[in-house]
Amino acid sequence: MQEVIPGLDPERGLGPLRDQIPEHYGDVGGGWRDILERAHAAALESNPDYRVTQVKEKFGGLRLYLVGVGGAVTDPFEQESYTTCERCGKPGALRRPGGWYLTLCAEHTIAREAEVAAQVDEMNRLLGIDED
Ligand SMILES: [Zn+2]
Repeated sequence: MQEVIPGLDPERGLGPLRDQIPEHYGDVGGGWRDILERAHAAALESNPDYRVTQVKEKFGGLRLYLVGVGGAVTDPFEQESYTTCERCGKPGALRRPGGWYLTLCAEHTIAREAEVAAQVDEMNRLLGIDED
């Protein structure tokens, strides 16, 4: 039996849409957990029946795709993610370690660069390429 969400047409293939932000805490790095908790509270205040279609990181920032809650509610939290390390929650900035946009603190930027360097070394080893 499908739950019917007011204002949503169940024939349009949007799926069950039963969940809210807490079911998606694991979809992005743990450093953004506090942002997600506050976004959930704000979304509930705006619409207690809101639903999530997706919570993810894109181009280094948090993206909240919600049904029943407008961008005026979610935009400030998405903006805040660009100054918050996705891994640890400390102050961070949008960076590009290894060619991939991420919002990280200085410490996790160094850690990420080391991970990327190790991956490149491993790839070269597997391909039999000698670096020097
Ligand atoms: Zn960090």
